[in-house]
Amino acid sequence: MRKIGMYYAFWTREWDVDFFPYIEKVRNLGFDQLEINGGTFALMSPHERKRLEDEAKRRGIAISYGIGLTADHDVSSLDEEVRRNGIRFMRDMIEAVGASGGGMIGGTVHSAWPSTLPKNAADKRPYLDQSKKSMREMVKIAEDNSVILNVEVINRFEQYLLNTCDEALSYVEDIGSSSCRILLDTFHMNIEEDSIGGAIRKAGKHLAALHLGETNRKPPGLGRMPWQEIRDALDAIGFDGPLVMEPFIAKGGRVGRDVAVWRDLIPNPDYDGLARDAAAFVRKILCE
Ligand code: MN
Repeated sequence: MRKIGMYYAFWTREWDVDFFPYIEKVRNLGFDQLEINGGTFALMSPHERKRLEDEAKRRGIAISYGIGLTADHDVSSLDEEVRRNGIRFMRDMIEAVGASGGGMIGGTVHSAWPSTLPKNAADKRPYLDQSKKSMREMVKIAEDNSVILNVEVINRFEQYLLNTCDEALSYVEDIGSSSCRILLDTFHMNIEEDSIGGAIRKAGKHLAALHLGETNRKPPGLGRMPWQEIRDALDAIGFDGPLVMEPFIAKGGRVGRDVAVWRDLIPNPDYDGLARDAAAFVRKILCE
């Protein structure tokens, strides 16, 4: 049975928060997995990380880790100091996740977010080459720590290196490690892919996890995403990875700014009720 996960930032306006209470919360709302911020996790003390790990085990909740590297940790940078900084940061994160039993780190593990091609540049290839050079180093650390690094395919307005599944496929095939796989996201695919089902089928065995959201990032079930087409494609490739929803519905804070939510999408939202309904919807339409 596919696991259903929820990204903690649905409930928060800042990225750096205490994740502990969200483990029980998502369990009570019908989820199997909680996705937390890998950057914050890496900066927690070993004691705090152990406490979180124990709580997740006690509640039967799997933990996955998301990251959008900041510009000063950009592993695709042409500035060697910045690139080394990024690799160091990723090493700390990978080792922290490894010490907690391993798992998936997904997002822009390959570059910075939000980010665009530098103003004086016209060709992204040098940045892509730098990214792969860094990734070859990072996957070795990941392999030693039972960690999988999932490069997320992100739309052109937030990132520029990997905008389509085809680009990500070429990237991971080039890296050639089972510790470097693909994370697709329905919100981004809706903008970039000719066919959402087609992209999932193409990703095939390289698809490690799927982020779920409607076209405007409301929780699944409240929009016009072609869920049946997505279901058919997941079945066709025998997908057994986690389905992690990543809804953002409120403006404000660092989160609202980074994900470009400039208005409240749902008036007076009942966050827990919305999450519970979305979990039930996803379980019915993508799992059962
Ligand atoms: Mn995503």
